[in-house]
Amino acid sequence: MKTLTTVGEMQAAAAGVRSLGRTIGFVPTMGALHEGHLALVRRCRQESDVAVVSIFVNPAQFGPQEDYLNYPRDPERDTELLRRESVDILFAPLVEEIYPPDYQTYVSVERVSEPLCGRFRPGHFRGVATVVLKLFNIVQPHRAYFGRKDAQQSVIVQQLVRDLNLPIEIVVHPIVREPDGLAMSSRNAYLRGEDRQAALVLYRSLGRARELIERGERRADAVLREMRALIEQEPRARVDYIEVVDAASLQPLARIGGRTLIALAVWIGGARLIDNLLVEETPDGFRFHL
Ligand code: AMP
Repeated sequence: MKTLTTVGEMQAAAAGVRSLGRTIGFVPTMGALHEGHLALVRRCRQESDVAVVSIFVNPAQFGPQEDYLNYPRDPERDTELLRRESVDILFAPLVEEIYPPDYQTYVSVERVSEPLCGRFRPGHFRGVATVVLKLFNIVQPHRAYFGRKDAQQSVIVQQLVRDLNLPIEIVVHPIVREPDGLAMSSRNAYLRGEDRQAALVLYRSLGRARELIERGERRADAVLREMRALIEQEPRARVDYIEVVDAASLQPLARIGGRTLIALAVWIGGARLIDNLLVEETPDGFRFHL
């Protein structure tokens, strides 16, 4: 595995790979890698000739009161994990390489950035869209891999690629969970003591939503009411939002049908956790992606 840190080196490497007619698969991350990231890396490794992973904690996507400085970082462990997965190139630039002092261009994907996390994290998705577009221009991938854990992010990236005609296939991978159901996240490192157990309330509430829908419930407000009641039984939990939305437009739905995303963001102690359930209506009934 080669570790590259400059834009010039990475673009030259990408041009070299492309000139040989080989395909580039790309997994952007913020590091503190876990099995969720590694599932994307393995899929990327299988589906492309050359696998590139980036590690960059992007300051532009953190609000002024958010955890940019405390965000977990462990570059040595991450490098070793990626080496073991036979990644070809690790791109790990410094902040000044991506945002030099005179930096002034940002991209916003408009409507799909507004609801859900967009309401609670102003500017977050502008930072995400900007860094993703920059990384695409630097890594020049044929395919890029994102996790459905960050469902809104993957919708925004798909919209960005469509709107700006980027010749990149976006692959969205299922949520990887701990054995007890907690969605893996670098921020789970913030869960101290009893917070770890309390964090299961997100998964349990989505399981409850699934049960209700399996029993025939279609009213979004009925599902949301039960989810909220379940979460409110956990004194360590504070809800940012729980919503039932169309999985493509992210606009609220009154009834579950088509492709429905049930998404939530909940604070457990100092950790803001997100999770979701994708419900797909098929000719033989509902399929649940939890
Ligand atoms: P992050 O390092 O948190 O920016 O995540 C990098 C990529 O890994 C994003 O596309 C995430 O959606 C994805 N990812 C993070 N956690 C998980 C998970 N538990 N399951 C699947 N994908 C994940």
